Amino acid sequence: MRVHNFSAGPGALPEPVLRKAAEQMLDYEGYGMSVMEMSHRSKMFQDIIDEAEATLRELMNVPANYKILFLQGGATQQFAMIPMNLHKTGNADYALTGVWAKNAVEQAKQYMNVSVVASSEDKNFNYIPAIDPAKLNPNADYFHYTSNNTVHGTRFTEIPKVETTLVCDMSSNILSEVYDVSKFGLIYAGAQKNMGPSGVTVVIIREDLVGTPLPFTPIMLNYEYQVKGASMHNTPPTYGIYLAMLNFRWLKELGGVPAMQKVNEEKAKLIYDCIDESKLFKGFVEKKDRSLMNVTFGTGDADLDKTFIKEAQAAGFVNLNGYKTLGGMRVSIYNAAPTEGVRLLVEFMKSFEVRNV
Ligand code: PMP
Repeated sequence: MRVHNFSAGPGALPEPVLRKAAEQMLDYEGYGMSVMEMSHRSKMFQDIIDEAEATLRELMNVPANYKILFLQGGATQQFAMIPMNLHKTGNADYALTGVWAKNAVEQAKQYMNVSVVASSEDKNFNYIPAIDPAKLNPNADYFHYTSNNTVHGTRFTEIPKVETTLVCDMSSNILSEVYDVSKFGLIYAGAQKNMGPSGVTVVIIREDLVGTPLPFTPIMLNYEYQVKGASMHNTPPTYGIYLAMLNFRWLKELGGVPAMQKVNEEKAKLIYDCIDESKLFKGFVEKKDRSLMNVTFGTGDADLDKTFIKEAQAAGFVNLNGYKTLGGMRVSIYNAAPTEGVRLLVEFMKSFEVRNV
């Protein structure tokens, strides 16, 4: 029996995708082998990566002057690749809105003069700070922000207005809501929340940003080589790319990102309404900045939170614990989390409240 899995990542995958992968495990489309056993130089695999790229391009409406890469090293590797490859004047602006943004800042400091131009660290990242145009460096090589803060449960509801190259860590909300890709210079995201298994990182990069890396940049971390090799400078994570392709196909069949966004808004509303009506549960972040993907809340009593998580687990709702430094609960409702599971969780929350107030 499958549980209701609200993991923050790797997250639940759509059941039809897993079923398709299971069906094709031993024999992919009559080739008599698993995708895992194919040469990445074969036509069989080329068709898979081509479909992955074409479908993602269609889903996000990626303009023709952007390259799509399927890389390894996670979003964390992009924290370094970005400053190494986009370095011109050596200055970069960063928005500091969470644990992952902080990691990005720390890594960039090895290569750049980093200016933190907006921060919510004063309140442990429970809101999205305003971007003050006066603080932005008009000559910065880029402005970096995290569209959705996985740990804290906040999201930028608007794309920051900056004159410089906009770089976004979209790891935990890519494909969950509509974005105008043309506003960005570079978008990156680990696959393990809305696209597939861990091990694949998607990079969408405007062509003019490719090709000016710092001299010591290793070949594997050089966008130019990865573009030239069409994500196959070395052996790519073939099976992960195949699962991402199945995910993209699944999302397209559901009506694409606008349809998914509507479902995601409904799912998030179910839980946020429950929290707002509750006398027991309190949301951790400012309402205006609430994430559609990661809902964070608690009872204010660490022991009661633990009891909630334990009882929820026994009832089939798993991975509800908050991030290690925050405590409380975090419900991650990525694209693959079915609305019905969210509805049942809300019922459980209500019954828990009745028993505990
Ligand atoms: N950025 C964000 C917003 C994340 O949520 C995560 C992972 N949870 C990362 C970066 C790091 O990703 P990875 O583990 O793929 O390096």
